[in-house]
Parts: sequence; C-alpha cells; structure tokens
Amino acid sequence: MSLKMDKSKELFEEAKKYLVGGVNSPVRYFKPYPFFVKKAKDCYLYDVDGNCYIDYCLAYGPMVLGHANEKIVEAVKKQLELGSAYGCPTEKEIILAKEVVKRVPCAEMVRFVNSGTEATMSAIRLARGVTGRKKIIKFDGAYHGAHDYVLVKSGSGALTHGHPNSPGIPEETTKNTILVPFNDEDAVKRAINENKDEIACVIVEPVMGNVGCILPKEGYLKFLREIAEENDILLIFDEVITGFRLAKGGAQEYFDVVPDIATLGKILGGGFPIGAIVGKREIMENFSPLGAIYQAGTFNGNPISITAGIATLEQLDDKFYKETSRTAKILADALRELADKYNIKAKVYNIASMFQIYFNDKDVVNYEIAKQSDVNKFMKYFWGLLERGVFVPPSQFECCFTSIKHDDEVIDKTINAMEDVFRSLE
Ligand code: PLP
Repeated sequence: MSLKMDKSKELFEEAKKYLVGGVNSPVRYFKPYPFFVKKAKDCYLYDVDGNCYIDYCLAYGPMVLGHANEKIVEAVKKQLELGSAYGCPTEKEIILAKEVVKRVPCAEMVRFVNSGTEATMSAIRLARGVTGRKKIIKFDGAYHGAHDYVLVKSGSGALTHGHPNSPGIPEETTKNTILVPFNDEDAVKRAINENKDEIACVIVEPVMGNVGCILPKEGYLKFLREIAEENDILLIFDEVITGFRLAKGGAQEYFDVVPDIATLGKILGGGFPIGAIVGKREIMENFSPLGAIYQAGTFNGNPISITAGIATLEQLDDKFYKETSRTAKILADALRELADKYNIKAKVYNIASMFQIYFNDKDVVNYEIAKQSDVNKFMKYFWGLLERGVFVPPSQFECCFTSIKHDDEVIDKTINAMEDVFRSLE
C-alpha cells in the first residue's frame, strides 16, 4: 500500500480492543483497516495520518452541502446554547415539518424519529396497523435499515459482509416478508395473487442505493402505485437516500408517483441523526397519541437535528439540484468513457447526485445481477482511488454521491485519478 496509514493502523488495533471489529457500523470496515478521520470540510475528509481525500461517500449520503457547512454549524452552535434535548415540543419541529410537507408530495403529516431504521420500522407497523394485514413485500437487495422485518436478502453492509440474512432474527418474524426481484412486474403480480388480502404494504427504494445504484425501469414505480391501489395495499417509498436528493420533493416528485407513506432520513438531518415517517393525514393519524399504533422516542424531534435540518433544507435551492446532478453526470460519463478506452467490462448508472460503477457486462437491473459483478476488481478500483486521494464507499453495494462543494476542479482531479486507476486495472 502506497498510502501512509500508520496512525490509522495503530488506532484500529486499539479500537478493536473495545469496539466490535474496531468500528460502530460494519460499512465502515474494509480490509486491512479503515482510515481514521480527524476532520472534514467541504468535499474533503482529512485522516489522522495527514492524508486528504475527495469524499464521494459523504457519510453514506447526508452531507450534500459538504462537511461543516457554515450555516448549519452556526445554527447548531446557537441551538446548543439553548439546550440539546427537552422531552417537550418545540416551535422548530413545526418549522421543519411544514418545510417537509411543502416539498414532499405524499407528506400531509410528519413524525420525526432518529434514524432511517426507526422510520421504516414504524412505517411498516403503521401500514400493518392501518390495514390489519401482516405481510409485506420487499425487494431483493433493498436495505431499509437494520431492524428485523426487513433484514432479509438485504443490501448495504449486510451484503458486503456476506450476511444478507442476519442470524438472530426469528423466522416467525420474517415469514411475513415476501421477497421479489426489483424491476419485475410479474413477480409482484404473483406475490399479490398468492397472498390475496394479506399484504399490508409494498416497501421500495425508488432508486436502489444499497446494491450500488439500480434505476427503476420506465413505468415500474407507476405500476407499483397502480397494483397497490387495486389491492388496497399501502405503497411505502423508502426515500432515506432519495429524499430531497432527486428533487426537492425526492423520488416521488422526480418520477411523479405519489406513495401513501414515505420514510426520510440522511439529508433531512444535515449531518445529525434523524429520520421521519410522512404520509397522508388519514394514515398518519393512526400513530399515537391520536391513534393506537405506538411510536415514540426520547430523542424524536431532537432540537439539534431539527435545527440542522432547517438550515439544510433552506440551502437546497434550484442551483443545488442543477449542480450536484451536473457533476455526478460528468463523473458517470467519464467512467463509461474510461471503461471503453481501457477495454474494461463495466456498467455505470447515474441519477441526480447518485452514481455507481459495476464491473459487470450485464445490465444491472436487480440484486441477482448486481451480485454477479466483479467485487475484487471493485476493491482494486476503490484502493486505486484512495491511494490517489479519492474516497468512494468501500463496497460495490453502496452508492457514490456528489455535494455542492464538488466543483469543476475537484471533478477534473477525480477523473484524472480514475484514469490512472483504469490504466492499472487493464
Ligand atoms: N433506508 C435506506 C434506503 C437506507 O439507505 C438506509 C441507510 O443507509 C436506511 C433506510 C437506514 O437508515 P439509518 O442508517 O439512518 O438507520
């Protein structure tokens, strides 16, 4: 390894004594050890050995305004002086909820929670409670967080580390989770026919961002909307990644398909922990205290996260969407050209600020095909980039993101690094 990572190695050895695997989330581990971060600013991460990386992981999505955004820092500092948790409602929760309702088409009401995991867990409970049905449809390779209902054939770190079905989850819990391949209409029709009047919801990542970047086929999300409606099934869009990213109103605005419920997270908290369940009023009002479906949290609507969320949404203007989409497209186009030039079998996908390359000659339309990609080559590509000062998520089964701070100079540097790496991949 040409990178100097002595201090990171030392810290990793120490971390392993106290933290399982040396990390607090499996996606952060890669062989032989990850770099340890000292600070971050704009589109850069700085590690403890003095290396600086252009960051396309962006904390797995949230940091779309770049790290340590001045307006967020200022707002959070002020809020810190006023207290960080009250266990009582605040005016700021209303301000952020109003912003969410204004932007997100399906959102008539909001419940703030602390993570995407909590959001999907509660959204599924809500769907089950409202319909009185137990079964849910989930897509192979989709990741909806680390809770029991959905950790089957899961993407992200579960897949990266070879455990898409986690032990410790009783089969009684997941027997009601029906798995279907993404982008396959017949599979959904079959699942619904075989489980007539038993399915509470279909939960879908409108763009699959946890097995790389898999786009929905033309009309697929509309098909899901229609078939759900015909069968009194609730449609949940898990927009933890796509929310506020594909458009101001997320994937539902971008694709013009309005779900019954959506889950949000990541960008919404401006780099602080958050999640949200949003949906139509008549559905949302089933949550306690109005309804009987229990949902609660000591830190729900935490004033620090809410403050950061307000300061974030304020900055997501038209220019933000134009620029982050433009730079991600330049990178995706460059990757395609480089693959062609150096005769490397690859497929590259991009939408708005999301992009990913698969070392695969088939069109990647679902989990099974994504899994056939050359993951060893991907890790060579990852290390090649890292050694040249570019950090992409360390797995074929994650997605890259651009932020507003990735300007043309940064993009050019990245493409030069990519070309250098492709030369060595031949
Ligand atoms: N849903 C999707 C689509 C995600 O990408 C993630 C996390 O990556 C989650 C849910 C879980 O969110 P969190 O990690 O905040 O619990």
